[in-house]
Amino acid sequence: MRTAVPWPSGPATDVENSELQSLALPHVAKLHAYTPGLQPTEPGWTKLNTNECPYPPSPRVAEAVRREVGESGASLRLYPNPTSGLLRAAIAAHHGLQPANVCIGNGSDEILNLLMRCFCRPDRSAGFMLPSYSLYPVLVGVQDGASTVIPFDRSMKLPLDAMIASGSRVFFLTSPNAPTGVAFANADIEAILARFDGILVVDEAYAPFARENAVGLLARHPRLVVVRTFSKAYALAGIRVGYALAHPDVIGLLDRVRDSYNVSRLSQAAALAALGDTAYHANVVVRVCRTRDHYLKVLGDVGWFTYPSQANFLFTEPRNARGETGPEVAKSAYDYLCAHKVLVRHFPSHALTAPFLRISVGTDDEMLVLWQNLQSWQTHA
Ligand SMILES: *Cc1c(COP(=O)(O)O)cnc(C)c1O
Repeated sequence: MRTAVPWPSGPATDVENSELQSLALPHVAKLHAYTPGLQPTEPGWTKLNTNECPYPPSPRVAEAVRREVGESGASLRLYPNPTSGLLRAAIAAHHGLQPANVCIGNGSDEILNLLMRCFCRPDRSAGFMLPSYSLYPVLVGVQDGASTVIPFDRSMKLPLDAMIASGSRVFFLTSPNAPTGVAFANADIEAILARFDGILVVDEAYAPFARENAVGLLARHPRLVVVRTFSKAYALAGIRVGYALAHPDVIGLLDRVRDSYNVSRLSQAAALAALGDTAYHANVVVRVCRTRDHYLKVLGDVGWFTYPSQANFLFTEPRNARGETGPEVAKSAYDYLCAHKVLVRHFPSHALTAPFLRISVGTDDEMLVLWQNLQSWQTHA
């Protein structure tokens, strides 16, 4: 005989909700979850909204995953290597570092979370720029931590003095920045490190598409942490692997607060294979950058201001037929694209981002669909 269903099959009432929620820690009860970009499941969308790679990963990845699963899948009975040992060593070698300088995470989002766990709480603030990666405030919230938010102005130049004066224990700098694509010079990063006594995390999710990166600074700066991901330039967003490069003492802290089996066998195998196929990776990066630079010029030619991107997306300010820009104009372009099954990203909640659209660089075919739709929007708007 069936007993009562363990939870209501219909929508929970407010009363039930508040009773359960009052059992949670107060800061958890009032959290707002991160808003991920839409992931439509029906076919026919041109999906340029979450900065995924438009090209597939190296064919070696599928081979490696098949090999790891084997004929029977029996290897999956066993836990993965708890330190992602082989991958750690390969990443260290790739960057000219030691395995003790590397911690592998379930996506770089996990690494960012582990850093918050180590360095942020109510009396130890985490700093970050606005606009930048919108996950940071969510992670601070989970920690019930304090934050120091340093605003950009429209120039998107780093306000070094304000960052240094932030008094935060840990500062998260996205470079190249999201959603603007603007990269910061190593000279700026060193200028911060010279006068800031906390941990400086440079979130380099898009660094493979950039001219410069901060890895070479690690040897001289023990308080620098560089965070990378396989999600963007290695086309492995679905496999969830990211990593931190840092001084062994910082890596030791991350290893203490992470789950012991945080990266699956399949993920370790996939990332290792992707890292090994350097020629394939280089080719993907070249193609994405070529398409990006072409459309940066196209948008400039029609008079749309676009930040000089060193990432795999463009942050552009749409201009309607009357030459107007602004939040409503951007919203109109976003809605028009959406109605024509082209998905990009609009960030309406901040004055500096609301007049812009963020467009992930797609294949040349996808970009043509995007551009034709933007042109017909402009003639109709
Ligand atoms: C995409 C992105 C990440 C997340 O990467 P995952 O490895 O997929 O978790 C981290 N930081 C920034 C700035 C990103 O844009």
